[in-house]
Amino acid sequence: MENRERAPGRRFHSIPYSLFPIPYSALSLLRAFAIVLVLLSPAFATVLTATMKTPHFDVRYDPESPILAQTTVDAAEEELARISKSLGYRIEPNRRIPLWVYRRHQTFIDEVGLRDEFTVGIARSGDERICIDASGALVTMKQVLAHELTHAVIFRILGDHARKLPLWVNEGLAKYESEKYHGSDDDLLADAAAGGGLIPLVDLRHAFPRDRSSLAYAESASAIRYLVKRRGRDAPRVLLAELARTGSFDRAFVKAAGQPERAFVADWNASITRRFAVLRVWRFAAAFGGAAMALLAVVAFVIRRRRIAQAAREWEWDEFEEAMERQLRQWPHR
Ligand SMILES: [Zn+2]
Repeated sequence: MENRERAPGRRFHSIPYSLFPIPYSALSLLRAFAIVLVLLSPAFATVLTATMKTPHFDVRYDPESPILAQTTVDAAEEELARISKSLGYRIEPNRRIPLWVYRRHQTFIDEVGLRDEFTVGIARSGDERICIDASGALVTMKQVLAHELTHAVIFRILGDHARKLPLWVNEGLAKYESEKYHGSDDDLLADAAAGGGLIPLVDLRHAFPRDRSSLAYAESASAIRYLVKRRGRDAPRVLLAELARTGSFDRAFVKAAGQPERAFVADWNASITRRFAVLRVWRFAAAFGGAAMALLAVVAFVIRRRRIAQAAREWEWDEFEEAMERQLRQWPHR
């Protein structure tokens, strides 16, 4: 899921309440991260008039779709357990997460008050409320849940220190935990790497560029996968635990990654450039190979035609000679 930066001047650490929306783009499944200050008024009217409690969620849902609500909370319990284990959060039994389940995309957009109509989920750092479009119209309900729950779990682990976590790590972890496949991310990275257009990760610590948010998200997730590949599946857990304990992101990162952030970023950048350089060569070879095959087919066709013409001419000549011989043999005066 991606998010579109809609308030480029705002900073994650400078506002008391944050929304971590997951907007959807028709072009690239997930786009755009927004940090928006939205405080719903107490008198806020919602279509989510039905409520239920599960072991870890206070749920509000549309009474017209109880089955969708039940399916969503079942998935939420499962995903919370999985992500908590992965990131090292011990679930607190009496601290439920508010979960608002919308059955229609447009209602979700209207009620949450987002102008980006491709948004499919938000997670608030303040009151921990998660609101999702569970319709599955743009992104599967489970993927939205996993993305937003990752943010919620990170907030719980880090508390006030959440503000010290760079945006690329926060969003990278949310994508890492919620997206199994990353083919479209790889395409974005390959194109950017080919044109030398990767955004330096250190520029993605506080905000994502509005016009290149998809790439910013793809890079963030790629860097987290690189961290896990190098340092093991425990690396995110170590990073968050150490940041929660010490309040120092730099120290936590060195412990998790085995090197400072800048050195890690340089290594990731080199690896991504190398990896996609190979891909680029392969693509070029494939494209060139295709063209070469077509050319060879034309050449082969021309050669074959010439040989046939030649054979025909020789055949005709042979025929002529034979006919002449025949005529000569049958020449009456012989
Ligand atoms: Zn997010």
